[in-house]
Amino acid sequence: MLIALLPGDGIGPEVIAEAVRVLAAAGARDLVFETAEVGGAAYKASGHPLPQATLDVARRADAILFGAVGDPDCDRLERHLRPEQAILGLRKELGLFANLRPAKLFPELADASALRPEIARAIDLVIIRELTGDVYFGQPRGLRKTDKGLREGFDTMRYDESEIARIAKVGFETAMARSGRLCSVDKANVLETSQLWRDVVMEVSADYPEVELSHMYVDNAAMQLVRAPGQFDVIVTGNLFGDILSDQASMCVGSIGMLPSASLDSSAKGLYEPIHGSAPDIAGQGKANPLATILSAAMMLRYSLGQADVADRIEAAVSRALETGHRTADLGGNASTTAMCDAVIAALG
Ligand code: ATP
Ligand code: MG
Repeated sequence: MLIALLPGDGIGPEVIAEAVRVLAAAGARDLVFETAEVGGAAYKASGHPLPQATLDVARRADAILFGAVGDPDCDRLERHLRPEQAILGLRKELGLFANLRPAKLFPELADASALRPEIARAIDLVIIRELTGDVYFGQPRGLRKTDKGLREGFDTMRYDESEIARIAKVGFETAMARSGRLCSVDKANVLETSQLWRDVVMEVSADYPEVELSHMYVDNAAMQLVRAPGQFDVIVTGNLFGDILSDQASMCVGSIGMLPSASLDSSAKGLYEPIHGSAPDIAGQGKANPLATILSAAMMLRYSLGQADVADRIEAAVSRALETGHRTADLGGNASTTAMCDAVIAALG
């Protein structure tokens, strides 16, 4: 299986190198790696943040392991040349419409949560956010003057039933692979889009009788996520609501350096990346927490490569490395990037 490695900028190359070490040590099977430049590094080498050669490797690959993009040197470039455009371009070109963000508290990190430890300990959920539709892309949108001469901005929230059905299926499949509970989040008491969302999710549920489906309004979901997050297993929602809820959930489990993500298309293909950025302030200092990227590599094994057994081993090793007290600076310790990774490898047993 071909894995495209796109390390990118800042701490990206540092954390990707550690994730590759863990994949090898954990016994991941039949992986061939091809590395390509992306982001500011690609711009500096070839004048474009997402060169054709990189896109070609990403297209051919079975999965993509992505570091981070963002480079202060590129801040004044025209918008389409900025490093951040590379990840947006990859999602669009590869049709990656489903964003999965697991939020799980490692019990040893209960103190790092924004919630009280006894509430935080119950968090073990996945948010599935639709990535390619909703008010972010709906037409018409724009700025205009009203009859009274006032400036007016407008956007359109829209989804068609096929877009809702395909993300709902990801939700049901994910729920099947976990504890079998799916909560669909919408605002069906106010929005037409949400009423359609709810109808289609219910139609898709006929194919998944084993999954226990519930619906929740987004305002209530925001409240419940901090009040009693243990009630959630899998949440499926649209682009806007998912954007907000997934950032909220990430703060409930501690450091940005801990959280992985996957962006999937309708086959098994996916792009896996830590949710953090290129962290130019700590790049090149050996301080970055590599766990978000190591956990992203575990997600890649689980969702794209059919190696859930190896993914389980890696996740258990991360847990054990934390139990034995290893911490990078963002977690209040002084382990280097490499030392943290060594601890995970040692814990693989
Ligand atoms: P982007 O726009 O690419 O998301 P950002 O401006 O949101 O980037 P990050 O690059 O994610 O910011 O960094 C935010 C802060 O978190 C920085 O202080 C950075 O040093 C810290 N940080 C990010 N990732 C890590 C990590 N893996 N380990 C330790 N600290 C990190
Ligand atoms: Mg950010």
